Amino acid sequence: MRIHNFNAGPAVLPEEVLKEVQQNIVDYKGNGLSVMEMSHRSVEYGEIIEGARAAMKRIMGLGDDYAALFLQGGASTQFLMVPLNFCPNDKVANYIDTGAWATKAWKEAKKIGKKYHIAASSEDKDFTYIPKTWELSDDPAYLHITTNNTIRGSEWKIDPDVPAGVTLIADMSSNFLSRPLNFKKYDLIYGGAQKNIGPAGATFVLIKKNMLDRINPGLPTMMDYKTHADKDSMFNTPPAFSIYVIGEVLKWIEKKGGLEALAVNNKEKADYLYNIFDNSDFYRGTVVPEDRSYMNVPFRLPTEELEKKFIAEAKTKDMIGLKGHRSVGGCRASIYNSLPMKAVQCLAQFMLDFERKNK
Ligand SMILES: *Cc1c(COP(=O)(O)O)cnc(C)c1O
Repeated sequence: MRIHNFNAGPAVLPEEVLKEVQQNIVDYKGNGLSVMEMSHRSVEYGEIIEGARAAMKRIMGLGDDYAALFLQGGASTQFLMVPLNFCPNDKVANYIDTGAWATKAWKEAKKIGKKYHIAASSEDKDFTYIPKTWELSDDPAYLHITTNNTIRGSEWKIDPDVPAGVTLIADMSSNFLSRPLNFKKYDLIYGGAQKNIGPAGATFVLIKKNMLDRINPGLPTMMDYKTHADKDSMFNTPPAFSIYVIGEVLKWIEKKGGLEALAVNNKEKADYLYNIFDNSDFYRGTVVPEDRSYMNVPFRLPTEELEKKFIAEAKTKDMIGLKGHRSVGGCRASIYNSLPMKAVQCLAQFMLDFERKNK
């Protein structure tokens, strides 16, 4: 039996995809070996990775002017690669700080000695909102945003405007492919696969090809986007199995009707939970309503004792992953693309029952 998995990442995957993978785990489509055992240079594997790459760009509506890469090292390595590649020493790396991961991103630029500037921050209100205005530095190398704040539960509802000539870079780890965005506005998009599109191990990168001419010279081979773009993510062994599963998730997304269809479904799931907060003085949402995330729903109960009890009791009812991130405490339900509506309904019912019994 499958439990209701509200983990933030690694997270729930579509049951259909897991079954498809299971069927092919020992003998991939009659080839007599598993994807895990295949050469990444084989014809069969070439079809898998090319299929995944093409599906990702098709779903996003991106054309030949973008390269889709699958790297390793997680979004955390991208925090380093972005300033390393795209902030020359005479320019300034600009960041909007919306908490936790967004903070880690600019700290990496600082660590390697780049000039950096916080163009806006929501730290003044404990990262409970998305800044609506920002001020870029002189000579900006790029503006970096985090489109969904996995830990805090806030999400950008617009694709920010930047002045002509300014590069826009986004960490989309936790809301990637959850709804249509104006992806073409971004010059570089990255994230860890394990939040919304696959198992851990692969990092997706969409990069506008004209960015490749602007990379700082002399970088270590594996830190240079050009290394990976020139060799179609095959400079070294890619995270082959993870990419295969991502490819299957992407097929599932297309079968479901693409991003428009997912957006409707995701909003419906999120609204279900947010409606409970809005009609209760027991549960308290932590983010201002207009910036609430459709993917990660953090909330507080009246006391920490009740939160502990809530999480423990939910577990006895086959609902796991409801503990908030250790840095902020409280509770959090992550409700990614492949979490079925019935899991959210089950949680909502439990929340109402728990409130009645513990108020
Ligand atoms: C999880 C997460 C990260 C870190 O991802 P790793 O792949 O574990 O390095 C970075 N940014 C956001 C928004 C995340 O949710």
